[in-house]
Amino acid sequence: MVLEPIQVGSVTLDPVLVLLGLLGFAALALLVLVVIVAVHMSRRRREAHESDAQLAELKVRLRTLAEISVSRHGELARAVNERLDRMTHRVGSDLTETARKTTDSIAKLHERLAVIDSAQKNLTDLSSLIRAMRDSDPDEVYNLGAVSFVAYSWENAPLTTDVTGKGVLNMLEAVRLHSADDLGRIRFYQASSSEMFGKVQEVPQRETTLLWPRSPYGVSKVFGHYMTINYRESYGMHASSGILFNHESPRRGPEFVTRKISQAVARIHLGTQKDIVLGNLDAERDWGFAGDYVEAMWLMLQQEQADDYVISTGETHSIREFLTLAFARVGIDEWEPYVRQDERFMRPAEVDQLIGDAAKARAALGWEPRVSFPELVAMMVDADVEAQKAGW
Ligand code: GDP
Repeated sequence: MVLEPIQVGSVTLDPVLVLLGLLGFAALALLVLVVIVAVHMSRRRREAHESDAQLAELKVRLRTLAEISVSRHGELARAVNERLDRMTHRVGSDLTETARKTTDSIAKLHERLAVIDSAQKNLTDLSSLIRAMRDSDPDEVYNLGAVSFVAYSWENAPLTTDVTGKGVLNMLEAVRLHSADDLGRIRFYQASSSEMFGKVQEVPQRETTLLWPRSPYGVSKVFGHYMTINYRESYGMHASSGILFNHESPRRGPEFVTRKISQAVARIHLGTQKDIVLGNLDAERDWGFAGDYVEAMWLMLQQEQADDYVISTGETHSIREFLTLAFARVGIDEWEPYVRQDERFMRPAEVDQLIGDAAKARAALGWEPRVSFPELVAMMVDADVEAQKAGW
């Protein structure tokens, strides 16, 4: 085919050059389009990443709400959990929008809560607890306050005793005084602990097992446990004691062995840490997921009669087993080269093995743990890998 020259006014254009020019223009336009799409996609990815981060933060805030000690609404813990589930399901659609909506929901939940200004309230100060009762006029009180790190309790046994032990008495007194002549009106939960079993006198441990604490923390918890029972028996108060075995989650403090390991494994995996220094690797614990255990606490206060319950999974695992699963999660089968032991992390008196029997809670509360041990380890390691990648 022969192309005719193109006449534009007095100028004659070569048709081949015109065609090449048009093709060049089209290629340039395509390039610009590709760049615009690439920038847009990268922004969407960044937004998605930011929303992921926001979402993780929101989950943390929701869990915090679920753990708030004093609430006017007995149904709150369940409402928070349902909201958390719905939020997790919506994540796929529009992350930014979901995060925004969830922030609004949290603000609304906050309005429904009687949040006590903890800066001015103190378990060792009875009058501040009485003020807390007056300000919130609660239906339910969950006493989770404690100096709760066992190893630290030897360093400051008097403080541990004041807060973890006598603090329970102060809380019970504040509830009793505020309840006036209707002593069953406010339902009280005391966070007792499997550390009370210490040098175990029976395997597995149940509500009736003889207590033999092995640390100032354990001794203080025994005091709080019996004081709770005593107030129930003396005054007819609706006071329950949950003997919770170790309960963990990605929010666990890094001084506890599970989180110390999951955090270190994440860093070793990403090349920012060389090894991890631990104490006794042979101790065995009955580890469950904190989310499941919070539900058990709430269930106790929904019962007609107050009582004491062991909450546990009924399985025990050593620190070594935790290490094996945690390292395997990031593809490391031989963890020994990454782990050192040091006297610094050994305890003056060790609790060698804990394993609970939660049969009473299963029968009376209908409670079952949902998260298995391997799922718990995977959850903690995955969360720490994500946190480390995001630079938290
Ligand atoms: P606890 O059961 O409340 O004392 O929970 P921890 O997580 O603090 O300790 C659980 C077990 O892990 C105990 O038997 C500790 O002796 C043992 N352990 C071994 N190494 C460490 C360590 O480096 N830190 C902690 N916290 N515990 C360790």
